[in-house]
Amino acid sequence: MRTRPLLALALASLAAACGDDAASERATTEAATEAVTGAESGAKSDQALDADAPPASKPRVVLLTQSAGYEHAVVKRAQADAPSLVERALAERWSSRAEVQLLRDATQLDAARLADTDVLLLYTTGELPVPGGASALVEWVRAGGALLGVHSVSDTFHEQPEFLELLGGEFDGHPWHQRVRLLVVDREHPATAALPEPFELHDEIYEYKRRAENDLRVLLRLDPKSVDFSRAKHPHSGHPMSWVREVDAGRVFHTGLGHRDELWRDEAFLGHLDGALSWLLREG
Ligand SMILES: [Zn+2]
Repeated sequence: MRTRPLLALALASLAAACGDDAASERATTEAATEAVTGAESGAKSDQALDADAPPASKPRVVLLTQSAGYEHAVVKRAQADAPSLVERALAERWSSRAEVQLLRDATQLDAARLADTDVLLLYTTGELPVPGGASALVEWVRAGGALLGVHSVSDTFHEQPEFLELLGGEFDGHPWHQRVRLLVVDREHPATAALPEPFELHDEIYEYKRRAENDLRVLLRLDPKSVDFSRAKHPHSGHPMSWVREVDAGRVFHTGLGHRDELWRDEAFLGHLDGALSWLLREG
């Protein structure tokens, strides 16, 4: 269980909410240092706003948006310290529920960092330089971690199939980029319970290979009637778009949506991710 003084935690949350990656890192480091110092000296910190309050228990959500391959515009930072659209949207939305950390460098995702992470969101591509490789992430999930994979996450770690097997699908083209209709095939999940019917949006639509259909709980599928289906490379796949998996003690949520910038201002799509976070945090 992580224990950090409230002041430092608040600073970290504020920094994350403001999208200040460096400040967030700083505040978290200060918090950890303070916690250790306090424990060693047995003294209360003058800096803590309320040292007698119970330890803060906000879950920690790490957003990793590194692109080792193709970089999507929505995760691009105009400047190193200016958060991307995805980072801003999720930090602002989730900072009241979680301590949101913005991470651009997978080399920092070592075992200690993972052990201190409740939910890891990946909007990534390519062979990420995670210490220990993809298998370190797979082991973390199997041991009870929670992974939220967005859009090009299935275009990540092509050379390390254990990751794509964990995720449940591997990117295999995007034949459609248009307004589509999605079929909510499972409404008994927090990520879909509030979705509109019909659920239509404009996005780039992926197809997948390396998929174990029996192991997926599919929440959303592409409605084949809403596209030129003759362009499908996998016409018998059922075209799952969002799905979940439980793997040993861990949980995986995947959505193929999220390419276009307007989705990151779309209440239905963001609500879909809110529900995903609730499920991954095992709320309720
Ligand atoms: Zn895309």
